[in-house]
Order: sequence, then C-alpha cells, then structure tokens
Amino acid sequence: MILLASNENPLGMPESARRAAAEALAGAGNYPDSNGTALKNALAARLDVPADWITLGSGSSEILELAAQVSLKPGEGVVYSQYGFIVYAQAAAHAHAHATVVPSRGFGHDLDGMRAAIGEDTKLVFVANPNNPTGTFIDAAPLLAFLQSVPAHVTVLLDEAYTEYLAPAQRYDSIEWVRRLPNLIVARTFSKAFGLAGLRIGYGVSQPALAARMNAQRPRFNVTTPAQAAAVAVLGDTDFLTRTYELNTAGRDQLAAGFKALDLEYIPSSGNFLMVRVGDAQAVHARLLAAGIEVSLLGPYGLPEWLRVSVGLPEQNRAVLTALR
Ligand code: PLP
Repeated sequence: MILLASNENPLGMPESARRAAAEALAGAGNYPDSNGTALKNALAARLDVPADWITLGSGSSEILELAAQVSLKPGEGVVYSQYGFIVYAQAAAHAHAHATVVPSRGFGHDLDGMRAAIGEDTKLVFVANPNNPTGTFIDAAPLLAFLQSVPAHVTVLLDEAYTEYLAPAQRYDSIEWVRRLPNLIVARTFSKAFGLAGLRIGYGVSQPALAARMNAQRPRFNVTTPAQAAAVAVLGDTDFLTRTYELNTAGRDQLAAGFKALDLEYIPSSGNFLMVRVGDAQAVHARLLAAGIEVSLLGPYGLPEWLRVSVGLPEQNRAVLTALR
C-alpha cells in the first residue's frame, strides 16, 4: 500500500532515532523517566526556554487534550474554526465543554470572526497554523494581533504540528510570543517532519504556571523510554529535517502541478498534504484503494467532494496522479 492518508513522513523513521530507540529498549523493563528530563533539556536548549516550560505528551494530541482539561469546566466554551483538526471537537467533548465553530474564510481561519465568538464563558481557543486538513496558513502579524486580543482568562492553544514545513519567508517565532503571553500554549509534534508518528510523542510550550497545571494533569508515564530517546536523537539530526523539508516542498509542487494538469481544484498548502476536489470523493477513494493507494476522506469535516493527499515520495506522488487520471 502507498499510505498517504495521515500526513506522515514518507522517509519513515530516521536512522538516528531508530538506533536510539533500539538502545533504549534495553532499559524498557523499567518505567520511563516521568519527567522526560533528557528530552526536556534538549528542547529547552533548542527553544531557549527553561525546561519547566515544557509538557511532554503522547503525541501532541495529548497536549490538546490536556489544554482542554486544565482550561475548561463542564459547560464552559471553546472556540475553533470550521475545518479545524478533529481532535479539537473530541477534546471539547471530553471536557463536557460547549464548542463554537466559527465559519472559515477561504478554507482558513476567520480570526475576526473567532475574536467576536469569544464570550464570557469562553475559556479555550484552538488555532492551527498551518491548518489540517486545509493546509491554510496565517501570516505572523495577524496571528500575533489575534493572540494579543484574546482576554487573559482565555487559554489559546496554537497548534503547530506542521510548522517545520513552512517556507523560510513564512516562519515566525511563536516561542517568543509564549514569553509575552501567559495564556498561550504552543503545541508541536514529533509525528510529522521528525518521522516518529508511531512512537507517539509531542510537546507543549507555555509559561511555567500553565505548564505545571498540564503536567499535574498528565498521566505519569505517558511517554515511553524509546520515544523519549528517539526524540532526543532526531532533534539533533538536522540532515534528516533538511531532507524532509526539501522532499516535501518538491512533492507538494509535484502534486499541485499534477492536480492543475488534471483540471482538479486544490487548496495551496503550507503543510505536508493537499486538499483536492474530486467530486464523489467516496467513490474516488475506493478506486484509489483498489489501486493500492490510501488517501484521506473528509466527510467528517463536511467536505464530501474533497480528498486530502499527504505528500509522498516522488514515485508515490506520481502513482496518485496516474491513478487519479
Ligand atoms: N494537530 C494537527 C493539526 C494535526 O494534523 C495532528 C495530526 O494529524 C496533530 C495535531 C496530532 O498529531 P500527534 O498526536 O501525532 O502529535
């Protein structure tokens, strides 16, 4: 099967992380370091924040869940955009919160609409940049203006699962924003560009008061020993990250050009995936599966005519385009 349904890294797990995880298995008869000391120190050095600003999660999905758990009481409000990542709705439901889903603008976030939707009972806002599944991107200036406009009693979870795929001109320093905003949590993951989706590891960065509340809520051994070791290794593997970035940028262009040649509408993406309009997506999805290619249906997002195709290796991208033709 060609797996292009979950926005994973088509290069797979890097050799550096594979070696570190294998070595760590020798110690896996013992519980993991609950504090994740080595990884937190590595992240702290890289991000230039104290280690107690970091919360480790079983994937960044768990950081999203923890943000909801520490911010929301039953009946309180959470705001996110239409076409927001599916876990936002799940985290809201798990916290018995009330979700306000703000209609998107051009498949992206309507930040003015989101600001207007923040009411008295709102305690949490989710923003993804880039967004999944649409791939849309918010420029740094309007994003920062939005974050600064959110009342201090409202936590904002800025979901940066795909931040490593941004072009140099798009990049911004959200950790600097965390230094200024005590209600901001930046969530990042090792599942995408770092190639560790199956090990389940991600992290949140926030000021220490908020981090302490999330860490207190976190299951004690939520990140395994091999996952911690692999994450430390891949953080230092700049070659892998560069290869990943270059492969993704070229593959995204390849898919976009292919969709264009097939006269298929697509949304320009800043992530490692593209949304393409194929008509009866369910039927096309089934035909692709029969050809050995798995892509993602977007029915749960209310997009029955669209598929999301993760960027693969050049030959995998070619196979999708050939099958679509
Ligand atoms: N946030 C966004 C926008 C995503 O698309 C994903 C995964 O697809 C995640 C968070 C969570 O990924 P993980 O739990 O593997 O870190």
